[in-house]
Amino acid sequence: MLPEWVVETLRKRGIELSMIGDIVYKLQKPYNADLKMEDCMESVKIVLGKREVQYVLCTGIALDELAEKKLLPQPLQSIMDCDESLYGVDETLALGITNVYGMIGLTSFGYLDKVKPGIIGELNNRKNGIHVFLDDLVAGLAAAASARIAHNDPKAKVYGE
Ligand code: MG
Repeated sequence: MLPEWVVETLRKRGIELSMIGDIVYKLQKPYNADLKMEDCMESVKIVLGKREVQYVLCTGIALDELAEKKLLPQPLQSIMDCDESLYGVDETLALGITNVYGMIGLTSFGYLDKVKPGIIGELNNRKNGIHVFLDDLVAGLAAAASARIAHNDPKAKVYGE
């Protein structure tokens, strides 16, 4: 079940679920000609319905918000202020979302982190506010929702069914 606070927490930070759905669609369409946008949206909602995903999300977003309010201890505040490229905890936390769906999720996350399509790139370049965690959280969500579709593709099931 997807609680309203999860959708609201993302919306407050400028993220609509459709932005994540768009990335999922682009990731999976080359492998699945029948894929529809509503399949991607459903997958995003199912991933967001998992409690461990919700906890990762609210933890990362809280750190972004605390950094904007200058409430973090040093050296963390400075690291967040300049989005220090060697910090890496933002990616590590987001992998907590992706890990739920195994290796396809992991490789997709690496791809999204490198290419930064759609809202991920916008967040990375956004000058107002601090979004150190949010870009990786969105990438983690999109990668997990995409991997979920791949795992549920009936054409991919060869053994045991
Ligand atoms: Mg980041």
